[in-house]
Amino acid sequence: MIIRIKQNVFQFNFQTFGSTVYLIKLANQNIIIDTSSKENKQELLADLKELNIAPEDIVILILTHSHWDHVGNNDLFKNAKIITNKNLDKLPKELKPIQTPGHTQDSVCIIYKDILFSGDTIFHEGGRGRTDLPEGNEKQIFESIEKLKKVKYKTLCPGHIN
Ligand SMILES: [Zn+2]
Repeated sequence: MIIRIKQNVFQFNFQTFGSTVYLIKLANQNIIIDTSSKENKQELLADLKELNIAPEDIVILILTHSHWDHVGNNDLFKNAKIITNKNLDKLPKELKPIQTPGHTQDSVCIIYKDILFSGDTIFHEGGRGRTDLPEGNEKQIFESIEKLKKVKYKTLCPGHIN
C-alpha cells in the first residue's frame, strides 16, 4: 500500500512482515530508504510500478541499518549507490544524517525537509527499537533518543508503522 507523505515522498507498507520502504523523488534523482524483507519483493515492485518507477531508476539506496527486514530487496536496485552509516558523506546535500546507535551499532536516521526517517530507533507514539538483539545497547538508544528530541521535524517516518 502506498501512502503519499508529501508531494515527492511516498511510503510503502506491506502485507507480510518487513520494514516500510520510502521513496523520495528529488529533481534529478530517485532515492529509496530501506528495502523491506524478501517476502515483500513483488509488492514493492508493484508499488513502484504504480508510480511509474522502474527499479533501475533508483540511483541512491539508503539503509537505516543492516537488519534483514530492512535490506531484503537491495538487489533489485542495480543502478543504486548504497549509502550506509559507513559512507554518509555520499548523501545528497538535501538529506542530513544523524547517527543513532542503540538498536544496532550502524543505525542512522535521515532528515529531509521537515521529515525524520527514523529506521528502528523510534516509532510512532513514543515507541523505540529493541535492544535485546545482537549489537543492541540500551544506554546508547536512550542517548540517541535524546539526540532526536533536539531535532526539529514535523513528520515521523519510522521503519515500522504497526
Ligand atoms: Zn531493526
